Order: sequence, then C-alpha cells, then structure tokens
Amino acid sequence: MKKILTVAVLAAFGSMGYAADKVLDADIVIVGQGAAGTAAALAAAEGGAKVVALEKKGLPGGTGNFSEGIFAVGTKMQRDHYIDLTKDQTFKKIMAYGHWRSNARLVRAIVDKSADTVDWMQKNGVKFEKLTTNYPGGLYTWHIYEGRGAGWINLFQKKSKEMGVNVLFNTPAEKLLMKDGKVAGVIAKDKDGNKVTVNAKAVIIATGGFADNPEMMKKYTRFPNTDGVAQSGKNGVGIQMAWSAGGGKEGLDVQQSYRPGPRGVGTTNHVSATAKQPHLWLTPKGDRFTDETIMGDWPAAGNALERIGGQMWVVYDSKNLDSMKHDGIVQGVGVMVPIGAKLTNFDKEWDAAEKAGWAVKGATLDELAKKTGMDPAKLKASVEQYNNAAAKRHDELFAKDPQYIFPVKQGPFYAIKSVASSLGTLGGIKVNDRLQVVTDKDEVIPHLYAAGSDVGGMYGDSYDLLMAGSTIGFAVNSGRIAAESAIKDNKIGIKK
Ligand SMILES: Cc1cc2nc3c(=O)[nH]c(=O)nc-3n(C[C@H](O)[C@H](O)[C@H](O)COP(=O)(O)OP(=O)(O)OC[C@H]3O[C@@H](n4cnc5c(N)ncnc54)[C@H](O)[C@@H]3O)c2cc1C
Repeated sequence: MKKILTVAVLAAFGSMGYAADKVLDADIVIVGQGAAGTAAALAAAEGGAKVVALEKKGLPGGTGNFSEGIFAVGTKMQRDHYIDLTKDQTFKKIMAYGHWRSNARLVRAIVDKSADTVDWMQKNGVKFEKLTTNYPGGLYTWHIYEGRGAGWINLFQKKSKEMGVNVLFNTPAEKLLMKDGKVAGVIAKDKDGNKVTVNAKAVIIATGGFADNPEMMKKYTRFPNTDGVAQSGKNGVGIQMAWSAGGGKEGLDVQQSYRPGPRGVGTTNHVSATAKQPHLWLTPKGDRFTDETIMGDWPAAGNALERIGGQMWVVYDSKNLDSMKHDGIVQGVGVMVPIGAKLTNFDKEWDAAEKAGWAVKGATLDELAKKTGMDPAKLKASVEQYNNAAAKRHDELFAKDPQYIFPVKQGPFYAIKSVASSLGTLGGIKVNDRLQVVTDKDEVIPHLYAAGSDVGGMYGDSYDLLMAGSTIGFAVNSGRIAAESAIKDNKIGIKK
C-alpha cells in the first residue's frame, strides 16, 4: 500500500509545472522541423509511418529557410554540365580535408545517397535553378533550389500534412520518454503550458545544434564568440536528450564558419559586402595578420581571425570603393551578391552602418586611427608595407596574390569592424552510418536516431567549403536515412 501511494505522489509531482497532460501515440516522433526534420517527416510518411513532429517555433524551417542550395554528386544536372566528379573522388577529398577524423562510413553514406536525394526532391516538386560552387576552385556540387530553403521546406510540409503528419508548432521537446530503460517517446510542452507526451516506437532528434547556448558554446567550441547567423533558439536540448539516454559525443568543436563581417548584418547589405573582400585586414591595434585572400575559404578565414581574438578592421581607400561601386566586387557574397556585383546601395546604406558603429570613415589615416582605436603608427606601417607589396607585386609578409593587393592611398579611408561568424554548430551526437544514436563505444541505443546539425562525424577537424552545399546536404540526407532506418528497425508498416 505504501509503495502504491509513493508512485501516485511521484506521478502527481511529475506533472507539476504543466497546465494539463496531453498524450499522443505515433510510430515515429521527430523533434525539430527544420531542414533535417522536414526531410525526415516526409520520408517517414512515405514509408507508411504515423508521424508526430514537434517544433519549438511557430513556423517550420529553422536555419534551413535561409539556405540556397544542396550538395550532391552524380546528379543529372552535373552530367548535363559535363561535371565528371565521381562519388569515390568526392569521398576521398572530404576525408583528406578532415585528416580522416570524420566518420568514414557516415561520409560515404551521405555521398552515396546525395544524387538520389536530389531526384527525390525533384519528384516532390522542388525546382533547381542552377549548379555552382561557392569559392574559387571549389567542387561543382551546389544545387541551387528556387525560393531558397523556405521554398522546398514549405512544399514538403504541405505534402507531409496531406499524408497525415501531425506537426505541433510552439511545442519544444524537453526530454526523452524512457520506459524500462528504453527510449519510448518524447515529452514536450506546448504554448499553453500543457505537458505533451508522445509515445512512439522511434525518436528522431533534429534540433539544429547549440549555437544559442552560451555555456555549451564556451565549453565545447574553439570559437565561442562568433556571430551566430540565424541561430535563435538553438539551445542544444536535442543533443542533451540523446546524451541523457547514453548517446556519445562527436564533433562538438566544429562550427560552420562563415565569412567574417560586421556583427548581425544581413548578407545583402552592400557596406557589409565591402568587408567580405580581400582588402587590408588589421588587428584592433593595426597590424596585418594574414593573407586576406583566405576570405574565399571561410573556414580558414575564421581560424585566422579567431587567433587574433575574433575581431578585425577591414580597411580600403576611396579608389577601391569606387571600383567596388562601378566595376564590381572581386569576391562574391553567396548567390545574393555575386562576384562582379556593383555595390550600388553603398551610399544609401552607409549612414545607418556608421551610426551603428561598425563602419568608420577618416579623411586621413590619423583620423581613421582615432575613430577605430588603432595605434596610428601601426596603422601607417601596415599601410606602407601593403602599398610597397602592391608596387613590387610581391607580399614579403604573407605572399598574397598581387592581383588582390589594392593599395590604400587615396582618402577618405574606410574601416569596417568585422567579427568571426558562424552559420551554426556541426556536432554533438555520435551516430553510425544509419543515423542510429550510438554510445561513445559505438553501441546502438535502440529506437533513437538523430539528423542534421545535432550530429557529429561528417566533418573531421574543420568544416570545409569543398563540397558546396554540404550542411543542407547532410541535413536532408541524414534526415531521410534516419527515417528509413527507424522504419526498418522498428518494423513500421509500409503503406504502398
Ligand atoms: C544564411 C544561411 C544560409 C545558409 N545557406 C546554406 C546553403 O546554401 N547550403 C548549405 O548546405 N547550408 C546552408 N546553411 C546552413 C543550413 O541552413 C543548416 O546547416 C541546416 O539548416 C541545418 O539543418 P537542421 O535541420 O539541422 O537545423 P535547422 O534547419 O535549423 O532546424 C532545426 C529546427 O529544430 C527546432 N528546434 C530547436 N530546438 C527544439 C526543441 N527543443 N523542440 C522542437 N524543435 C526544436 C528549431 O526551431 C528548428 O526549426 C545556411 C545557413 C544560414 C544561416
């Protein structure tokens, strides 16, 4: 009798903090409806599963909404463009870039699935507008879809709904439901404070990482002070849920480095675009610290910037500015402000940038030093070294390609405050090539799967730009594979 009473009291305490209890049953519960979760939901519904999906925000898509294109190798689009890159070559390049610290089986699974995934997206109505790469010399693997990520994500959401997927918005997952020590569903809270319990045969976690969790960023990443673009709400709860069930850790220190730029400014701003060019980059004190052409390879740019504390001034003169306005920029800023784009909005956008404190103008270098806080002697010495390198066509300091050394001579002079930037974290949960969550010793945790940026193992020691479109590629392919594995492992019925 005493024992029964104790259980009842615990049950009552267990519900404390919730307005009421709601209980739902599903074959598969998916946590997060961004890129990976949306792909997983459609794939699971197509496989005949009864799906409940939980989304923290009021809308689907997460960071995926902002994306422009997806990685794939071996597609018809590539064949049509005479791109003869093979899956084997791509796999080897990815593994070599990460010094073979990636999960080779996982990388192989994603590479092998990628062309089929583009076919699958097309079959489901996604239109691709072009094939490109994202830096000089990069692989032509970036398949650009119409309407950015929001386009295909909303389309998939509509299809999933028609197939019976029940998406609960404004309902963040809080923890895993465990029964007899096994994963048995998810507990969430809706916007009215109700406890939502979803009983399920399988759980897929796809909450997009932890870039909005300062403690986790500080504890696990090398770049905790980056400007996290479009990361609101990414508090790492999904990752912690997997760890709480015994899931292992992988790839926590890898972030999707983005082009350094002014903090919190959109990618289409033309004043900001001047900071994303290979102009003269100076430390807050006024010293040069790198070959600035590494801007083309953002992970490298992020590494160099973090080494000097994560903040720099990008300096150019009025002659350079004229050239960017009238001849166009030498380094594209995504597909929105491509290489050669003329920065015609610069004058319109300047005042706001100056007022916000990240853009500074000085009639002389002394005035620029005063306004930026750089040491005037260091600033002048750096400019002199740079101008000499331009005249000699040889940069004795950092061997920068002389065609990108534009001298800084003619006032007024401009300086843009730039910080290291990231499009999100890229690690956390350890998985195998079937996207099953595994322990640190590679033992499978039954009924638990993870996908997208919550998962580690795709990148070795650094995010790479090599396979353009790789993070959406990973999100969509891993979401699909997780759904297929969950259906197979848990014997969920096939409808068609
Ligand atoms: C501006 C920009 C452009 C980009 N362009 C590209 C590109 O062209 N190509 C490319 O490969 N990558 C690109 N990326 C990166 C890409 O968008 C991400 O890597 C991808 O969206 C990750 O997918 P995901 O599903 O893991 O996370 P997300 O798409 O962010 O989805 C995670 C979802 O989980 C939800 N969530 C979080 N916590 C909970 C919780 N507790 N309960 C329920 N739901 C929760 C979030 O609200 C969100 O909807 C870009 C990123 C940005 C910011």
